[in-house]
Amino acid sequence: MHSTKYIFITGGVTSSLGKGIISASLAKIIQSRGHTVSIQKIDPYLNIDPGTLNPYEHGECFVTEDGAETDLDLGHYERFLDIYTSKANNVTTGQIYQSVINKERRGEFLGKTVQVIPHITNEIKSRIKRLAIKNKLDFVITEIGGTVGDIESLPYIEAVRQLKWDLGENNSIVIHLTLVPYLAAAKELKTKPTQHSVKLLLENGVQPDILVLRTEKKLTREIRRKVAQFCNLQYEAIIESIDVSSIYEVPILMQEEALDVIALEKLNIKLGEKPKLDRWKNFLFKLNNYSKTVKIAGIGKYVELQDAYKSINDAFVHAGVANDCKVELTWIHSEQITNENAKELLEEYKGILIAPGFGHRGIEGKISAANYARKNDIPFFGICLGMQCAVIEFARNILKLENAHSSEMHPNTPYPVIDLMEQQKNITDLGGTMRLGAYTCSIKKKTNAFNAYKRTKTMERHRHRFEFNNDYLKDFVKHGMKPTGINPDAELVEIMEIPEKKWFVGVQFHPEYKSTVLNPHPLFVSFVKATIS
Ligand code: GLN
Repeated sequence: MHSTKYIFITGGVTSSLGKGIISASLAKIIQSRGHTVSIQKIDPYLNIDPGTLNPYEHGECFVTEDGAETDLDLGHYERFLDIYTSKANNVTTGQIYQSVINKERRGEFLGKTVQVIPHITNEIKSRIKRLAIKNKLDFVITEIGGTVGDIESLPYIEAVRQLKWDLGENNSIVIHLTLVPYLAAAKELKTKPTQHSVKLLLENGVQPDILVLRTEKKLTREIRRKVAQFCNLQYEAIIESIDVSSIYEVPILMQEEALDVIALEKLNIKLGEKPKLDRWKNFLFKLNNYSKTVKIAGIGKYVELQDAYKSINDAFVHAGVANDCKVELTWIHSEQITNENAKELLEEYKGILIAPGFGHRGIEGKISAANYARKNDIPFFGICLGMQCAVIEFARNILKLENAHSSEMHPNTPYPVIDLMEQQKNITDLGGTMRLGAYTCSIKKKTNAFNAYKRTKTMERHRHRFEFNNDYLKDFVKHGMKPTGINPDAELVEIMEIPEKKWFVGVQFHPEYKSTVLNPHPLFVSFVKATIS
């Protein structure tokens, strides 16, 4: 049997310390040493998945190839590692309890009292192991969401404690990420919160093997030694994680701190060759040394929260580097935009992107932005709802279909140019019921889409209920908006373009989910290219 090494990442002191980035960075270095690795995120909330959560609550909902609606950290994992994650990479307390309760209803516990220990902890352990077994991985990194000491995290910490014991010496380690705050008044870094946080872990029976200390200032030798001594760790197991300008710097920082070396040593893995991070370093060099900048406007309605459009933001970083350019992306609230002020708000931008979204709020502003882009031939990229807005705008102003709309926003519109998919009509549950995950798209030659992809077939991820209404297709084509990508099985429109414009592309799918550091998404690359040429 393939033996997998397990790395658990816990967090202490405060949330938002960047466990996801540390996990992804360590995974990247381990991968670059020639091992197979995947990362799993455990979210201690009761929702089954973040699919039904408002982006204001939880940031972007990331969608995997196999159609799971997941935590945005999975996006980081894919962008760093260039691998696909799947349903098994995101586990929530909701899923754990749902499956235990379903087993109880089926009588699978044979009359036993069902309890957090052992039934919930067993379910957690089996979810952690399942990912490794299914994919025959050398390493699984499991990131435990939340902060040690939270009531919700307790069963997970207990499951980690048990797994460490079950797996035996040198087969698993716990890395604990904490904060070392800097007190400006005292001009000192403070280690007490870290000591307390480790104590909390110890109270739950878990001794961390490595500490990663998030800090604004460099850690002195004394501080490292002090933390090591008070937390029962060797000096080399104290890793500094200093603030940096880009998350993509973190793997290099972690390598300089030898996080991989200490982790692999503790797991009894021979170090072998040095990590091969040349392509990554090359990306970083280009990220910091660009020859031009370009301003692009992103139109959305969750703009107050940067995390709401995480994958789009990152796809622009990748596409910028590919074009030797820095993309200055400014998010504009769609509720502010009208036909009258569109010019004033948008004229400084060389490209306009309309973001995905749901519901009526801000929709007219998005349609006005699409109108401004079309009339002024500004490179335009519409994603999912963004494509739908471009279609509605075209229907109203070119096809003269007054009050044309999506039946999502206006169920009684006389012209539902965007309409509910047939399969969606009888669905009442909201969770996990959209058209989700990867579907094939056939791309027509001699189009902007083909120029970007340079192939006639691709797979792209979806997350929507509504689609282009093919009853209107002929009219659109006649007037110059054309389907350049089609799903061959269902004849659904995947890509719409106005070929007479410089670059006007709307996509029903979400290309942003598949853009990675080493493989920037062709549509983003091509859009950015159009904005600078
Ligand atoms: N609300 C639209 C739909 O369900 C678009 C979804 C999206 O942008 N992801 O079809």
